[in-house]
Amino acid sequence: MKFDVSKLAASLKKQIEGFEDKGRKGEVGRVISIGDDIASVYGLKDAMLGELLLFPEDRYGLVMNLGEDSIDCALISGEGNIKEGDEVKRTKRVVEVPVGDALLGRVLGALGNPIDGKGPLGNTATRPVERVAPGIMRRQSVDTPMLTGIRAIDAMIPIGRGQRELIIGDRQTGKTSIAVDAIINQKGKGVKCIYCAIGQKTSSVAYLAKQLRDAGAMEYSLIVSATSSEPAPQLYLAPYSAMAMAEEWMEKGEDVLIVFDDLSKHAVAYRTLSLLLRRSPGREAYPGDIFYLHSRLLERACRLNAENGGGSITALPIVETQEGDISAYIPTNVISITDGQIYLTSDLFNAGHRPAIDSGLSVSRVGSSAQHRDMKEVGGGLKIELASYQENLSFAQFGSDLDASTKAILTHGAVLEASLIQKNGAPEAEEKQALLLYACKAGYFDAVPPSEVASLLEEYFDYLENAAPEAVREVAESHELGDSVKERIRETAADFLKNRQ
Ligand code: ATP
Ligand code: MG
Repeated sequence: MKFDVSKLAASLKKQIEGFEDKGRKGEVGRVISIGDDIASVYGLKDAMLGELLLFPEDRYGLVMNLGEDSIDCALISGEGNIKEGDEVKRTKRVVEVPVGDALLGRVLGALGNPIDGKGPLGNTATRPVERVAPGIMRRQSVDTPMLTGIRAIDAMIPIGRGQRELIIGDRQTGKTSIAVDAIINQKGKGVKCIYCAIGQKTSSVAYLAKQLRDAGAMEYSLIVSATSSEPAPQLYLAPYSAMAMAEEWMEKGEDVLIVFDDLSKHAVAYRTLSLLLRRSPGREAYPGDIFYLHSRLLERACRLNAENGGGSITALPIVETQEGDISAYIPTNVISITDGQIYLTSDLFNAGHRPAIDSGLSVSRVGSSAQHRDMKEVGGGLKIELASYQENLSFAQFGSDLDASTKAILTHGAVLEASLIQKNGAPEAEEKQALLLYACKAGYFDAVPPSEVASLLEEYFDYLENAAPEAVREVAESHELGDSVKERIRETAADFLKNRQ
C-alpha cells in the first residue's frame, strides 16, 4: 500500500480541529506576571471587559485591559500569594452587590460585604455595579425639594430630589458636615440615604457612623466604605456599588439621597490603577477617560417620571480642592457634570462664618423649580442683597464718612449674613427657616449686633412658637407666608425685642 502523506496530514489536521477540551478552552488561563495588585493573564481569549476572574485563594480580579495575547486585571482584594503560572478561571459574571432593605442600618465594604460585625446580610437580591443611566424619555425634571435643613442652602442654593449638587472646598471646611446634616434631616421624610466613603480614614467613617446612629438616622441609611487602606480597585468600585444599591430603591419608586465623600480620592485611585495598567497619562497624569469615570456615575442619579415609578436619586458628590483652586482638572470636570455646586472656603470658615458657603460662587441650576413658595420668597433676592453688602463693605474700608443709605445696607447685610450662620448637627425644619429668614430679611433685627444674631434667632423662634403657634403651623402646612403670618412675625419680633431689653 502506498503511504499517502497528504492524506495523513489532512486526517491529523481534521482531528486537531475537532479537538475541544470542553470546559477548558478559553475558560482557564495562567498568570504571566503579577505585581501592585495587577495581574497579566494568558489564555483567556473569551474573557470580557469588566468580567470577574477567579484566582487562587478565592481572590477575584476585574478585567481592565484586553490585549492581543494577554489580558490585564486588577485584583479586587489584593494579590495575596498569587504567583506567576497560577491558574485563573473565568466566572462569566460581572461585579454584583447585594441590594434591598436588609442593607439599611449597616456598614458595608466596597462590594456590599458587611464590615460592622453584625453578621451576614441574609438572602438579598443582587445587582451589577455598572449600569447604563436611564434615558431622557424615562426622566422628569425635579419638582420636590430635597431639604438639607441648612438655612443657607435651602434658601439660596435649593436642591431638588433627583438633582446632582457638588459640595466643593478645601480640606476641613465642613464638607462632610453638610452631607451629614442633609442625611439627618431626611428623618421622617421617606428618603433612604447612602453615605459612600472613598479613601477616608477608618476612624472618620466610624465617627460618622456613630453620628448617624446617635441622630437616629441609621434606620433609613447605610454606609458603603472603601477606606484608604483598601486596594485601589475597591476604591474605584465603591461609588458604583453604592449607586447600584440606590438604583434598586429608585426603581421601586422611592427617593434616595447618596453622598460620595469624596470623588477627588476616587479619581486618584483610578489614576493609580490606570498608571499601573500602563494607560497613557494625560493632564495631571489622569487617564483620558477620567471625565467618563465620574459622568457615567453621576448620570445615574435622576428623577424618573410617573410611568417609571417616580423614584429619584439625589447625589451629593464631594470634591476637595487645593488652596481653593476650583479650576483644577477634577473640580472643573465634576462642576460641569453636576447641576450646581456649594462652594466652601477656608477664609469664611476661619472667620467663624459656618457653614462656610461662598454665596457668590455657589449655584443650583435646577433646584429653585422644586422650592416651596415660602422658601422661594425668602431666598429670592438674598444672594443679591448679600452681594451688594459685600461690595459696599469693600468700599466702606476706604472712607469713614458713609451716607445713611450705605450704612443701612451695611447693617442690614451684616445681620443677613449672620442669620445664615448655623451649627452643624442641627438641621432645621423648613417652616423655622422660612420664618426666621423672613424676619431678618424684613429688617426686624437690624438693630441687633451681628455677633448676637445666631443665638437671638434661636430665642426668637422659641418665643414665636409660644406666642403664635398657629402661624408656625400654618407655614408648616401650607408652605406659604400669608399676610396674616407676616403680620404676626412683625408683631412678635417687636414684642420679643422689647421683652429682651
Ligand atoms: P475633610 O477635608 O477633613 O474631609 P471636611 O471639609 O469634610 O473635612 P468636616 O469634617 O465636615 O470638614 O468639618 C471640619 C470641622 O468643622 C469639624 O470638626 C466640624 O465639627 C466643624 N464644623 C463643620 N461645620 C460646622 C458648623 N456649621 N458649625 C461649627 N462647626 C462646624
Ligand atoms: Mg470630610
